[in-house]
Formats: sequence, structure tokens, C-alpha cells
Amino acid sequence: MTDRIRLLPDNIANQIAAGEVVQRPASVVKELLENAIDAEASHIKLIVKDGGKSLIQVIDNGVGMSPNDARMSFERHATSKIKQAEDLFRIRTMGFRGEALASIAAVAQVEMKTRLKGADLGTLLRIEGSELIAQEEVICPEGTSIAVKNLFFNVPARRKFLKSNAVEMQHIFQEFYRVALAYPNIHFELHHNQVEVYNLHPSKLSRRIVDLFGKQYRQQLIPCKEETPTVKIHGYIGTPQQAKKTRGEQFFFVNKRFIKHGYLHHAVMQAYADTLPEGNYPFYCIFIDIDPEQVDVNVHPTKTEVKFEDERTLYAFMLTAVQRALATHHIKPSLDFEVNINFPESLSDVRSIHTQGEGGTGSKSSGSGSFQSKLPKQSTKDWKRLFEDFEAEQTLNIPLEGEELELFQKIQKREQEQQSGKVIKVSSRLNQIDDEEESSKQAFSPESEPVFQLHEQYLVSQVKSGLLLINIKAAKQRILYDRFLQQIRSGKRFAQQVLFPARVSLPAADRTLLQEISPQLQQVGFELEFLQSGEVLVRSVPSDLQDEPQHILESFLEQYKQMHTDLSLAQDEKVARTLAARAAHRLPKRLSQEEMQSMIAQLFASSNPNFSPYGERILVILDAQQIAAMFE
Ligand code: ADP
Ligand code: MG
Repeated sequence: MTDRIRLLPDNIANQIAAGEVVQRPASVVKELLENAIDAEASHIKLIVKDGGKSLIQVIDNGVGMSPNDARMSFERHATSKIKQAEDLFRIRTMGFRGEALASIAAVAQVEMKTRLKGADLGTLLRIEGSELIAQEEVICPEGTSIAVKNLFFNVPARRKFLKSNAVEMQHIFQEFYRVALAYPNIHFELHHNQVEVYNLHPSKLSRRIVDLFGKQYRQQLIPCKEETPTVKIHGYIGTPQQAKKTRGEQFFFVNKRFIKHGYLHHAVMQAYADTLPEGNYPFYCIFIDIDPEQVDVNVHPTKTEVKFEDERTLYAFMLTAVQRALATHHIKPSLDFEVNINFPESLSDVRSIHTQGEGGTGSKSSGSGSFQSKLPKQSTKDWKRLFEDFEAEQTLNIPLEGEELELFQKIQKREQEQQSGKVIKVSSRLNQIDDEEESSKQAFSPESEPVFQLHEQYLVSQVKSGLLLINIKAAKQRILYDRFLQQIRSGKRFAQQVLFPARVSLPAADRTLLQEISPQLQQVGFELEFLQSGEVLVRSVPSDLQDEPQHILESFLEQYKQMHTDLSLAQDEKVARTLAARAAHRLPKRLSQEEMQSMIAQLFASSNPNFSPYGERILVILDAQQIAAMFE
């Protein structure tokens, strides 16, 4: 019998490989753009004709190639990016397989002009279906221009399967977005059928997003940023209001490489949870910076899928990051102000709201937000039920780590240091939880759990799943923010302390600012008069701000100005936030059992018990297992 096995001729091998790399014009766009980026170009021009079917050309001002490299670049497995096997695990460039140009040249007519930086002459190469047609010296600009014509000219079956120009162009746009978003510092142009579609000047990411997707995004972007020693997440997410029925504006980048990741997408969607109308997808453009050794980018030939070493932790981290971004912007959930909620005047007044709430109209309202539906249940005695609702809403139990762990360790450490008799030790209390359950039920109303104040800064109590720790200051900020915002938007005037009118003088710029926001300030109890003399006459201030009028206004303005002006916050939200921060700023004090109970009740009835309006974590729950583990 004769031998039958033969090596495939190069051009056929290349065509087969091309089947993987080049599925449609957009694949060519992706490879060429990535090569230009790897070549450190600062200006990249993409020219497309007929949805990429007749022409895809990328012109860059990158490093260019020598005549030899130009020729080599079309060989399969020819790459300048990997020299040894270990390099595979620390890839920082977009490409690395050395297959793209060879594959493209196998199924198209390619013309490359390239000149090395500083070289006198450039090189022109013409290749058709893997066949070198011409190589000569040319005069051309520094950098590289690659034109890919008549894709699949020699594979009619593939060409027939291409979609309409419009559809192919949509795919090209997607690839273009991905690269343009990942590199906002690079100048990109996109021309389609002689029309300039984009001319994107180098800018910040937020500007790039607006340039790509339109001005309406300007007010809709929420910055998202979290960092641990091993992972960094940053970028922008869209408001729930901006979410769309169609997908296509969701972008993850791992070390600047666009990826698709169903699991992480789920984490983001989870964070938006019920703020999104059914079937809507929010915009997001999130960068994950991570040690390349912790990612396997090699599992898929076109490299949009990756595997992370520790996906679960990353999931939790992503969820927190997006939740936190949303919380900071107070979007979750939306408030319904048609309901007469009757916020308490002060924390200890919560009893009166309880009685009002039960008889009031609020409880019958059929509004959509979970906010008002919770309020009528509010009670000083029974925050436990509010908590259980809250806990049921928390779909994922995030393990104690990062910030939470730090907070806990801080408390632990302080506790070790501070042996003062006035502070009950957490650990000893933890051991007693079971025994105490019975006795505490007698000491308080049947449903209440005793609350204990730790270092005057935290509230500690038992919940079904373990130990609840609340940061008092952050909780106060959340409660007061909700209240102030509600007051501002209610159209009614609220509690104030009438003062002996005080004259306050402020710099002109501050006065102008104050005048601008005085309608909102009046709603919460400020009464201000702007005098001819330039002074401001203060007749009353909100009851929560107990300080000298001059100091109140100065510190309020100071804090207000510190807030990013370019953020998408509405003015009333900014005012409410600033007031909440001011009012919650007061020195910690010992709270009575009743005050603590009512604070927790109000917190769990608030719009977001997890995070303060400034994005600080309000509560931590140590579950029984975590507690047990600490004693192992
Ligand atoms: P890879 O990008 O995986 O290395 P390619 O087939 O895309 O493989 O490119 C092969 C080689 O050609 C690259 O490694 C690079 O050295 C060179 N090259 C390709 N495009 C350019 C460009 N626009 N500018 C400079 N060099 C380029
Ligand atoms: Mg490449």
C-alpha cells in the first residue's frame, strides 16, 4: 500500500486558518485596528466601502515595518510579539498569534505600504490569495497602510454568505466601538463610502463615549471605580433610565481587550436588579485591570472569551462595584413622592410617624417603587421585619472581603486595644448570642433585638443570619439624605428653627451659588434673604443643622463645591447630599436604646440601606459561619 498522507500546501492551510480568523469584514477590521494599536499608533484611520466587502483599509502612524518584516508579516505564525513560550502568559499586546495577516491575505487582495520611522523609503507589497504579486520600494508616509480588497474573492461560498452591506457595517461599527472605547487617547477616524462617520479626537473616556454614542449620554453616565490589590475596575455605567431594549452597548475590557462574559454581565444586571424595566439593558463600559497571569485569553480563536482564575470573587467584586456606583448616584430605587410619607422630624420622633403611617393614605398607595411600600411597616419596635425584607432582596451573599473585612478587622483591632470597661467586647457577646436570645426577648418588645453601640460609631445587633454591624454616620447620611430630598421635591416647607435673624457675609462667588440653590434650601427649612449690602440674612435653618448660621452656610457651601460639577447629579440631589453630610457630621454620642432601634428601622425603610449617598458601606453582616471560622 502506498502512503497517502501529505502536508497541505501553504495557501490551502492559510485558507483553512482564515476560516477561523476571518469570518466577515468586521473580523478584518478588528485585526487591522489591533495591529495598528500594537504598532503604537496615535492616529488610526479606517476606510470602509460597501460594508467592507469591496474595501477595508487601515492607515496608522505607528512604528512601521522594515522590508523584511513587511514580507514576513504575511507568513503564518509570524509575529514580533512572542519570542518564547512564557511570553504567552504575560501578553500585553492585542495580537500574538501571528495568524491574522496570513489569514486575511489568503482570502483577499491585500496591498500594504509601510515605512519604518526614520527610514527614507517604504515598502509596497501586493498579495492575492496568499500569492505575492509585487514587492517594491515606495515613497509613503511613516507608519503602515493596509488595504484589504474584495474579501473572499477566491472563496465564493464564503462571499455568498455575507449579509447585506448594512448588516456587515453594523458588525464593523461594533468592532470599531470596542477599540475606540479601549483607547480614548488615540485619534480615530472612520469613513464609510466616502463619508466621514467619525472623527474622534483623543480625549477622556467619558468624552469618547459621548462622541461615539451621542450627546444624550452626557447626563447618563455614572463613573464606576473599585480597586483591590489584585483587581481594578473602572469605567462608566449608564443610568437605569437610559437602558435600552436592544443589546450592543455593553462593553467589558480585560487589560484593554474587549471580552464577552456572560457571568460578569450577570453580575452587572444583578446590581441594577429591579431598577431596570423588564427586558432592558443598561449601557456599560467597564475596564478590568488584572494581572495577565490570572487570565487565560487563549481559549477562543477570536479572543473575545476569557477565563479568569477566580471568577466567583470577580463576580462579587463586579456586583459591588456597580451597586456602589448606582448607590452613589442614588438611583436605586426611584422615589415616589406622591405618597404622603411624613418623615419624622428627628430620629427619636419615629413613633409619631408610625401612628400616622398606619392611618394615613400612604399605606394604600399602589406605587411601583419598593420605597413607599416599606414605609408604612416602619416601627421602632420591629425593625426585624424590615430587615428580613431587606435580606430577602439581597440575592447574593458576598463573602467578607476587601473593605468589609477591613472594617471588621479594624473593629476587632480597636477592640483588642481598648480594654475600657465601658465598651462591651464583641467577642464575648458573640459567644453569648444563643443564651441571650431568650432574655433579650423579655427585655424588649417581643420582636425587637437589643442593639448595642460600639465605640459610639457602630450599631451592633443580632439578626437571623448572624451579626449585623451598622456604621452610624453612614446610616444617618442615608436617612437624612432621603428625608432632605423628599422635602425638596415635596413642594412643602419643612421643619426649621426660627432664629434671631443673623447677618452672614460671604464671598461674591459663594453668594451667587447660594442664590442659585436657595429654592431648594428653602424647601428644607432655610429662610434666606439676599441684602443689597451683599450680606445674607438668615432667618431660619433646618432643625437638623445645629450650628451658628455663618458656619452652617460656609461649611455647606464648602461641601457643595467639593462635589464634582460634571457629574450627572441633579441640583436637588446635590443639595440633599450636602445637607445630609453636614447634618450627619455631628460628633458621635451615646444613643438610647430607643434611638438606636428607630435608627435601624429608618435605615431599612430607606431607599438604599446598603450604601450612603456618598457610596460608603452602611452595614455589614457577619454570618454564623464566618463567625465560627474566626475561632478556628
Ligand atoms: P500578530 O498581531 O498576532 O503578531 P499579525 O498577523 O496580525 O500577527 O501581524 C504579524 C506581525 O506583523 C506583527 O507581529 C507585527 O510585527 C507586524 N505588523 C502587523 N501590522 C502592523 C502594523 N500596522 N504596523 C507595524 N507592524 C505590523
Ligand atoms: Mg495582529
